[in-house]
Amino acid sequence: MGVTRTPLIAGNWKMNLDHLQAVALVQKLHWSLKDAAHEADSVDVTVFPPFTDLRSVQTLLDADKIPFGLGAQDLSTHDSGAYTGEISGEFLAKLNCGSVIIGHSERREYHAEDDAVVAAKVAQALKHALVPVICVGETSEDLEKFGASAVPVAQLEKALESASATSEIVVAYEPVWAIGSGQAATPEQAQEVCQKLRDVIREKLGEDAAERTRVLYGGSVKSGNIAAFMREPDIDGALVGGGSLKVDEFSAIIRYQKHVGV
Ligand code: PEP
Repeated sequence: MGVTRTPLIAGNWKMNLDHLQAVALVQKLHWSLKDAAHEADSVDVTVFPPFTDLRSVQTLLDADKIPFGLGAQDLSTHDSGAYTGEISGEFLAKLNCGSVIIGHSERREYHAEDDAVVAAKVAQALKHALVPVICVGETSEDLEKFGASAVPVAQLEKALESASATSEIVVAYEPVWAIGSGQAATPEQAQEVCQKLRDVIREKLGEDAAERTRVLYGGSVKSGNIAAFMREPDIDGALVGGGSLKVDEFSAIIRYQKHVGV
């Protein structure tokens, strides 16, 4: 029998919520899950606040023993030095961040991050014992030209250059056309690509890594569609943008196992 992968629901807050709003959201989310008698062990939850919120959220998670993971939205390709505005993996690890999003399509598009930069960031994350949440996905033009899987597969192959069989990584398949558009992929489409991404992990890092690595779907995930994605064998969770900014909605996404028909 294969390894059981604990589902992961990750909230990417992007450039939303200042540190006070972030603390309020985490507190309310924790209460909401407690009120609903949600079993924390059944699903891992990680929040990815803006850099300026990390310290406040970390302090709250520690003080109130809230069982959420903490992650950052990006990191520098360097350890330290004259890189104005950059944040190193070392600083993130000191703040008890366990993971970091790398290669989000918004970084690729607005900050010209190519596959080489993404690979360098994955190497930095691994160096500092942060789990890289490696985002890959095709644009609508890519979809038309090459189909759904060619671009994400090529992106992942390059991103894994510095990873080894024992590296802990998370992969997020996020079709760019589905992000923030309200038009999610179908669970079947997402499954097909996620399966191919797991094949890449198998080829590059071996069977063990392919079995234990969580592959997420991201792109217009909501409480109304999450359960259908989670029924797919190669989808182990979701990277959620807009839906993670509202307590009730994010709480309902996390509690997808209670939805009818799951
Ligand atoms: C994202 O940006 O990672 C994302 C999936 O956004 P949304 O859920 O808003 O589509």
